[in-house]
Amino acid sequence: MKKDFENHTPKNRVGLFGGTFDPVHQGHLTAAEKVKNAFAMKAVVFIPSAVPPHKEGDRVTRAADRLAMLQLAVTGRAGFSISDCEIRRPGPSYTIDTIRFFKENTPGDTRLYWIMGHDAFLEMPTWKAYREILAQIPLIVMHRSGIEPPSMPSSGGGRVEMFIVQELSSNYRLLEDDSCYVHPSLYPVHLFRDPLPEISATQIRKNVKTGKRIRNMVPGAVEAYILEKGLYR
Ligand code: ATP
Repeated sequence: MKKDFENHTPKNRVGLFGGTFDPVHQGHLTAAEKVKNAFAMKAVVFIPSAVPPHKEGDRVTRAADRLAMLQLAVTGRAGFSISDCEIRRPGPSYTIDTIRFFKENTPGDTRLYWIMGHDAFLEMPTWKAYREILAQIPLIVMHRSGIEPPSMPSSGGGRVEMFIVQELSSNYRLLEDDSCYVHPSLYPVHLFRDPLPEISATQIRKNVKTGKRIRNMVPGAVEAYILEKGLYR
């Protein structure tokens, strides 16, 4: 029933972390580090989207700037890398296409995971071929602090748990230790409840616009890049 984990040595686990990263911040970096350690992954790959389908029409910073900030943020961090596959792909960035791309281009002994915050997870029904995603890759859903209502208390009573069973499939079953939903034919959905910093890119953009500090919200080199390029003014 549980398709992943057991047969894969730690060196073969890789987390894929997609997002707009406008800009990348300490919330993303802490989350990636904690998930990497908790799941004994050899790497986490940050995948900035080209035109996020759900953000079309909003103002999104040029991909080149978002990529440059990611590069500054991951420099010197072991096990963090960046893929520009979505930026190079023409048209909107659909997660299902990215997952297929990685599955086709990753050795068979590597177990891939898709990492996301619970806010993104709850929006999955708006994503292209979202049911296919569940059939392609295990998910790691992180509780994102500060987003109400509380999303995933233990024992299956939270919004995320109800969403999984009521919206995704009633055949998901919560493991006894509350860590993971397993399914007879789909990949597991792991729940990651460690506290993570209450930081959002929206708050950072707002702070820059109103002249407030963003120190401690982004790495120093990213803060310097934002100021030098005049982003988010
Ligand atoms: P915005 O405020 O512009 O919507 P964001 O801060 O949510 O941006 P994204 O690039 O949209 O950042 O997020 C990429 C992924 O990272 C999403 O799955 C999101 O849920 C997750 N994420 C973002 N911030 C945090 C955080 N502080 N803790 C845990 N997960 C996060």
